[in-house]
Amino acid sequence: MSNLRLPGPTPVPPDVVEAMGHPMIDHRGKQFKEMLFRITESLKQAFETKNDVFLLTSSGPGAMEAAVVNTLSPGDKVLAVSIGNFGDRFSKIAKAYGADVTDLKSDEGLAADPEAIRAALKADHAIKAVLVTHNETSTGITNDLEAIAGIVKGEFDKLFLVDAVSSLGSIRVATDAWGLDVVVSASQKGWMCPPGLAMIAVSPRAWEAAKTAKMPKFYFDLAEAKSSLAKGQTPWTPTISVMYGMDHALQLMLDRGDMQAVYDFHTKIAQYTRDGLVKLGLKLVAQDERYASNTVTAAWVPEGITDSALLDMLRDEYDIIAAEGRGVLAGKVFRIGHMGYVRTEDIDDVLSALRDALPKLGFTPAAAS
Ligand code: PMP
Repeated sequence: MSNLRLPGPTPVPPDVVEAMGHPMIDHRGKQFKEMLFRITESLKQAFETKNDVFLLTSSGPGAMEAAVVNTLSPGDKVLAVSIGNFGDRFSKIAKAYGADVTDLKSDEGLAADPEAIRAALKADHAIKAVLVTHNETSTGITNDLEAIAGIVKGEFDKLFLVDAVSSLGSIRVATDAWGLDVVVSASQKGWMCPPGLAMIAVSPRAWEAAKTAKMPKFYFDLAEAKSSLAKGQTPWTPTISVMYGMDHALQLMLDRGDMQAVYDFHTKIAQYTRDGLVKLGLKLVAQDERYASNTVTAAWVPEGITDSALLDMLRDEYDIIAAEGRGVLAGKVFRIGHMGYVRTEDIDDVLSALRDALPKLGFTPAAAS
């Protein structure tokens, strides 16, 4: 099997694969209801929330779209904080549904500046909602969500919609303690599952906003999700197989009593990855290591080498699947995912392949230790 080092889809442990092989069941039946309730309760623990949590059969942007269309109306003023490709996508979704979006962008490699968010909210009191990406997968940067929440919620009391697609499950998100109104994630990231299942947590404040939200919606209407969940169902036919996997994966993750051990492991493996890359003479995209992501590391492709030559060699000669750059970083960076199901040996494999491959491509790494 290839060493899949993408920041999603991520590898799935063998016993989760096995769990997904169960036969189909009635999604309006008792067995499904029990599984849905069990998954929902486990997710509440992982999201650190007492808010409603729903499962949506879609990938991440479906839940991002649900966050927007269920809380906003066309013409509503929105501040979209973006530090890369996925932040831009959240903004595009809001624009597609007619929100009046102010974009607040940072240079690649930087985290969002809480001071700039404060200034933007001060400058326009009519802003109703703020969109933020917790972990920007295109640059390998994790925003200080707690600090940002302190401003968005604590100082200005705005509706706060958070893309935690590539953080939750591997990086802590304290939904209730930080006052996050809508938080979304997706199964193929930190949750050790295949793609197909998105999750969304919805606060009482977000439900309040939902009462007057006029953006069009049907498949992602969360009022439908809420009334179905009360019956132990989803409004539409769900991805039952991925739910089998999620049920099992959540039990594995929560087995230790809480998620802290999982977060600690990701802190360690990320540091290990960064240290290894730097030792090889590579430069990280993250300009300040305090904000370097625990789920994905982005490094600049060395001068004189093309990203495709490097990624092709890793794939063809070492059976390692690393990720290319996205958005404005396309062609300039490569990324190593270390979220969800990852072992130290997987990273060792990447580092030793790079040590071997880079000289063949004309880059001489720093002396390997
Ligand atoms: N947001 C973030 C932060 C992501 O990392 C991704 C996937 N890379 C998405 C949104 C999009 O989700 P999906 O892959 O499920 O389409």
